[in-house]
Amino acid sequence: MIEVLVRGGTVVTADSMELSDVLIREGKIVELGLELETDGLIIDASDHWVMPGGIDTHTHLDHPIERLGVRTADDFYVGTIAGACGGVTTIIDFSLQAQGESLIKARDRRLAEIEPDSVIDYSFHTIVTDVNPESIKEIESLVEAGFPSFKIYMTYGDKKVGDGDLLTLLEEVATSGGLAYLHCENDCAITHLIERHLTRGETGPQFHASSRPVAVEAEATNRAIMLAELAGAPICIAHVTSEAVARHVEEARRRGQPVVGETCPQYLVLNDSVYDPTVGFEMAKFVCSPPIRGIDQVEALWSTVEDGVLQQVSSDHAPFRYEGQKTGGRGDFTRIPNGLPGIETRLPLMFTYGVKAGRISPSRFVELTSTNPARIFGMYPNKGTLDIGTDADIVIVDPEKETELDPACLHSAVDYTPYQGLIVSGFPTVTLSRGEVIVEDGEPIVTRGRGKVVERQRIDPNSLP
Ligand SMILES: [Zn+2]
Repeated sequence: MIEVLVRGGTVVTADSMELSDVLIREGKIVELGLELETDGLIIDASDHWVMPGGIDTHTHLDHPIERLGVRTADDFYVGTIAGACGGVTTIIDFSLQAQGESLIKARDRRLAEIEPDSVIDYSFHTIVTDVNPESIKEIESLVEAGFPSFKIYMTYGDKKVGDGDLLTLLEEVATSGGLAYLHCENDCAITHLIERHLTRGETGPQFHASSRPVAVEAEATNRAIMLAELAGAPICIAHVTSEAVARHVEEARRRGQPVVGETCPQYLVLNDSVYDPTVGFEMAKFVCSPPIRGIDQVEALWSTVEDGVLQQVSSDHAPFRYEGQKTGGRGDFTRIPNGLPGIETRLPLMFTYGVKAGRISPSRFVELTSTNPARIFGMYPNKGTLDIGTDADIVIVDPEKETELDPACLHSAVDYTPYQGLIVSGFPTVTLSRGEVIVEDGEPIVTRGRGKVVERQRIDPNSLP
């Protein structure tokens, strides 16, 4: 492979920001410094920022919701192109265990789906839904095979894992060197609140939000943290939406418990005015779990991102089309597929509302969207930073270039964006994956299936950010 030299840019990592060239050979960074030379390809990055490629550890591409007979609208080809155009060079998606299925079979089934299609590097969290002696035994083999993280739902129909099974799982994850990634909402409370709404004839999308208030999330988060403490397991709390939830994470960390917390741009940029009933059924575009919170929670959540209470920002990309998918829930909010598209807009939104707005530094931006995700999920330092010997996964951003968000300029198969009309900066002009240019002038130039599975390490609870 030819050499590539990224010349004249400002290299931003989680701990520094300085003018530097980056020399790449065989897909790896071989030299950093000023006035480097090459006979190979030269990419001029002057007046641009050069950053580690984004890592999105929470995507649902080609993901089925059997109860509703739908799948997310982006397959692994379209979804990873959208990711690359938004500066993402690695995703961790999910392999979903069917009832009675082996975890390893579920992983293999998923690998066969992604291998022919993904244009960026990838791995999976295994979603454990059926806790039995066989699946418990497979956890250690998956950790050893480079799949050390396990997603557990405390709610969501047949995916839900009850407290006893959760504790069993956490114990096995702890002894195997894995990490549990938890969706925390109180299932009984949600069921109760949904029934109350439906018996009153309250069927609109806004009642999705009021059936999952902050207390539902905070209670389950606290319970998960306590069970993890009993089991001695490191955990990551997915999609924290509010201050009350973040405080549980903060208190656990203060006690020295290996707990990390994630949030997503939708909880930092949107607020619950999206569920204003005067909007009509189009509120369904914003139906996700947990739901979008009030403006006071949004401001408080920003402070937890700024001051280090939460460690990473992922997208929870769960793209459903409005026409034909979200509209299936007309007359019954429980039949609206949950989720928002976000893989392509995560970095620009965090760049605009975080860095440009003066809330977080450029280094903190890199830490939240790339370095910490790599450290939490066993990919650091090969992914998540720019250093000699690491994969040359790089995004080059013109910090001044602005884009107005509209589905027409995005690459997802979804027919809307939750961020319609917002003016953002932070889209990459160039994305490099292992030294190969896969986005140029904002447009994808990719070979289908070029992405590779990332070999992840076991999780050392002491090295979590
Ligand atoms: Zn999710």
